Amino acid sequence: MAKEKYEFWFIVGSQVLYGPETLVQVEKDSRAIVEGLNAKKLLPYELVYKDTVKTADDFVQLSRAANGDAKCAGIITFCHTFSPSKMWIGGLSLLQKPMLHFHTQFNEEIPNEEIDMDYMNLHQSAHGDREHGFIAARMRVPRKVVVGYWKDEAVQKKIGRWMRSAIGVAVSRNTKVMRFGDNMREVAVTEGDKVEVQIKLGWQVNTWAVGELAEAVDAVTDEQIDAQIEEYRERYEFATDDLETVRYQAREEIAMKQMLDAEGCIAYSNTFQDLYGLRQLPGLASQDLLLKGYGYAGEGDWKTAALTAIMKEMGRGLGGGTVFMEDYTYDLKNGLSLGAHMLEICPSIANEKPRIEVHPLGIGGKEPPARLVFDGKAGSAIVASLIDIGGRLRLIVQDIECVLPTQTMPNLPVARVMWRPQPDLAVGAEAWILAGGSHHTVLSYDLDAEIMRDWARILDIEFVHIHKDTDPVQLEQELFLSDLAWKLAR
Ligand code: MN
Repeated sequence: MAKEKYEFWFIVGSQVLYGPETLVQVEKDSRAIVEGLNAKKLLPYELVYKDTVKTADDFVQLSRAANGDAKCAGIITFCHTFSPSKMWIGGLSLLQKPMLHFHTQFNEEIPNEEIDMDYMNLHQSAHGDREHGFIAARMRVPRKVVVGYWKDEAVQKKIGRWMRSAIGVAVSRNTKVMRFGDNMREVAVTEGDKVEVQIKLGWQVNTWAVGELAEAVDAVTDEQIDAQIEEYRERYEFATDDLETVRYQAREEIAMKQMLDAEGCIAYSNTFQDLYGLRQLPGLASQDLLLKGYGYAGEGDWKTAALTAIMKEMGRGLGGGTVFMEDYTYDLKNGLSLGAHMLEICPSIANEKPRIEVHPLGIGGKEPPARLVFDGKAGSAIVASLIDIGGRLRLIVQDIECVLPTQTMPNLPVARVMWRPQPDLAVGAEAWILAGGSHHTVLSYDLDAEIMRDWARILDIEFVHIHKDTDPVQLEQELFLSDLAWKLAR
């Protein structure tokens, strides 16, 4: 869906001083670069050659056009020749779309016999891109800089990863979240400033009555439920005879999807403390909606719900899986964290065919709900947590290594994932707790810290990365200085 909806613009820097002959060559080379990048298919979205900027007015027009074009998810700039940067000030001051500065060169090597002063003037990005870099730095334009030969696969993949960050920004600016019920009583980390997220991230977070959902649930027809059950049969193994309970989850899923789609919401939250008029906490229902790409988080956690939806879209097509997750319990001896939730882990990360089971919930006082039970797969991943640190948002990302669960845990009737946090459990958890990270996270096998850092930079929120070299003493100092800087900047 998003793939057809979005594209990126390639905008080249030059100037009229060089004369028409050089400018024709600049455009020809630039079109060849764009065609080459698209042909390799390492960019997840199409790159479109737009124009060569020769005057200040050229870029003002392009910047306005990019801002006004819903398809344009970002611009990529490259100065083939020198392009005086005072020319770019007007357009950069207007630009609202993410920007990547691609510092490349049409030829990979210096041609010994061919090189003369004309060649030098034409292939001048080493010179021109420095002028271009200065003005972006001078104007504090948040931008990604990618350096390298345009035919190099690693360079193309880096641009592709940034495209995913930019798509995350486009999706973020269109995110609507449906809240069924409030935040879980007394819980702090799932709270936050809904006005601030709308200003910074574009999220519209609003509430709908649980009673309205209960009415929609009651109005679902048997035919609709039959069709939903057929879908479940295709995807999941039925490990229960209690079909009535499964049918009730189908009923809840259909009703929630109707309400979400009617309002254009891509994420939702609910809480077991407010299920008035509902017979079960949605379990299988939420898991299946997560698989379809909706964002969800429990206990009224609308921040994690929205982040789940956005990160799913950023990782679209990669196939690794992105899910709502919660740190549950530890294997301290072996340095592992066991992640799960009461019910609602998305089956996109299952290592086996998920089983539908019915078990009582320890809390909430409702009927035992149907849920999917499975083990998560092994692989490198990240966990991400967005917190409201007071006056600003902080995104914390930790690198983790998921392993197949080391125990069968036959009496734990929920989906589970096991991982080794970086740099290890003790230091990783110390760093996470120092930074204020939540027990709720988004876990993704598809995205990495660089993609999330780029996303946070574009949206102007604080970013903290916990990785293999993290030292808690240094991190504490960084958090202290960062806190001062963010307060001063406002
Ligand atoms: Mn929870």
